Formats: sequence, C-alpha cells, structure tokens
Amino acid sequence: MNYLELVNEILKNRKRDCLTLASSPLTTPTIDQMKAVDAYWPSAHSDVDLMVRLASAAYEVAELKGIKVPFELTVEAEAFGSELNMGKMGRNPYVTKPAFESMDQIDFSDEIFERGRFHIVFDALKKLSEKYGDFLPIYPQIVGPYTLLGHLIGAEKMLRLTLKEKEKVGETLLLLADFNIEYAKRVMESGGNILCIADPTASGDLISPVSFRDLLLPAYKKISSSVDFPVILHICGNTTRFLDYIRDSGFDAFSFDSMVEVKTAKEKLAGKLALVGNVPTIEGLLNGTPEKVREYSMKALNDGIDILCGACAIPPQAPLDNIKAMVRAAEEYNEKYCR
Ligand SMILES: [Zn+2]
Repeated sequence: MNYLELVNEILKNRKRDCLTLASSPLTTPTIDQMKAVDAYWPSAHSDVDLMVRLASAAYEVAELKGIKVPFELTVEAEAFGSELNMGKMGRNPYVTKPAFESMDQIDFSDEIFERGRFHIVFDALKKLSEKYGDFLPIYPQIVGPYTLLGHLIGAEKMLRLTLKEKEKVGETLLLLADFNIEYAKRVMESGGNILCIADPTASGDLISPVSFRDLLLPAYKKISSSVDFPVILHICGNTTRFLDYIRDSGFDAFSFDSMVEVKTAKEKLAGKLALVGNVPTIEGLLNGTPEKVREYSMKALNDGIDILCGACAIPPQAPLDNIKAMVRAAEEYNEKYCR
C-alpha cells in the first residue's frame, strides 16, 4: 500500500487499522525547506514553478508523506477584491483591506476563477499531480466559509454581526459555501486528491457552540453533501465544545489543535471522522527538541490520532529535525505496534 492508498483507506474507514504516517494537509514550508530548494516566500505564493518546488520540499526535504498547496489563506479573498500584504519569508500574506463594506455586496460568478492567483494554484496542482499524484496525498487547501467571510468584510465586523445579524450571516455563509464547492471541484480536477478546508476563524476561542451549530454546521453540511471526494476539515484553537456538531458535518476527517484532547475527540467523533493532528506547533515543532516532538507524537498516536501532523500550520522557523522527528515517530509506531 502506498501513502495515498493508506490515507484514503484511513479516511474511508474513518480510522486506521494500525498503520499510520506523518502527512500534513496544513501548511508545510519552513525557512530550511525554502533554502534547500531555493524557493522562498513571498515569491512562491505567486509563481507556479516556485510553488511546485517549495510544496515538493514537504516530501523531498522534510520527508512528510504528502504535499499541500497553496501555503496561505488569501487566494480567495484577493480574487473577491480584498487587498493584501504578501508577507515575507517567515510571514504569511494577510488581508489589509476587505473587499466589501457589507454582506449584501458579496456576490460571485464563475468569472472569479479567472482572477487573482487561482491559475497559479491550478497549474501547480497539475504539475504536482503529474509527479506525485499516484502515490502521495496532494492536499489542495481552500478557505472555509467563516474565515473567508472575515477576509471579505473584516473579521471584527463579522464577529460582531454573528451576534447582531445572525440570520444574514447564516445566509451569507451558505452563499460562500456555494463558492467553496465550486472552487473545491476545480482544485480537485486540477490534480488534488484529498481536499482540506481550513476555517481557522470558526474557532471555539472566537465563537459560541450555538453560533457554530446554527451558522457553521449548515454551511459545512452543504459542502460535504455536494462533493464526492474526501475532505479534511481544519479548525484552529479549542474546538472541544464543537465536537458534537463536527460529528454531523459529513466530512471525512477533522484536523485539530493541541488544546483539544485526542481521547475526547476520539470519543466524540468515533466512526464518523478520522483524526488528524495534533503535535503542538509552538512547544513542539518550533521550540521543542526532536525528542520532545517524538514524545508528543507517540502520545497523540497512542491516544488515537489516525494521521500524524502538526496541530496547525508548521511555523516557518521550525527546525527541519523537529519535522523529521514526527515522521520518524510514525515509522517507529508502525514498527512497534503494527507488525
Ligand atoms: Zn490551525
């Protein structure tokens, strides 16, 4: 069984039999990898060949069993008309001016896919798929509806309106879910084989379980019922109180942060979603030692993680040896327990 087959099997069964692997549907590039393949941020966000080279470094340099593009969350917002700062080598691009004043102005047609950097993502996926697509997971990552709404009208305004204009927010999220579905189909046709939806703002640190249930869950269900490929949902922060609803999202796997107990997630999501995560990114991958990362990894696997990866995007300053320690831990686990 190759790495892609293994991940597909885990997602299909919503759990692993025993074998695991370290594979990241979340952002992978680090400064070490940029140097190793001579492809740097911010240029690699806007150039097909640099994007392909840097994405490949996840496998070629860091030895993770998967490839993820794009590296950041502003591709959609830019095409809608939001203004960006493209960041720098160790910092992601971010929205400086949201595209719209109000939710009423949000609209799109298929023409949107001609704009911004969508074509870079599509072309990079095509090239990555030609080289790796028959044996490695290739994870296109799209931005989930709530985070996208924040990029389009401003995150603070969105959080305010989530309480004050709940119904309108719900309607707008369903509209953005339609956009997500259309974009998801296009990245998958371009060469992706497992979709990742990142919705960092839909975090338990920012919204209530009731808002999550009433606003996010319908949008997620709409997406999951409209696509026929495997989907991993990633949400940042503490989502413990959302697990009962995520259970009904219809997605194949949940990638979650280190403040969520693996055992709790296992209990709540068993049989419904496979578990992806949740090696701490700051205390582990960034500031830990390889031995510390190994410990975190083994604990996560013993507690029931199905696919090992960081709790969130790998910090660009994380040492290569720490990422490799996660890869080695998955191999060690397989050796020890899966013979
Ligand atoms: Zn995250």
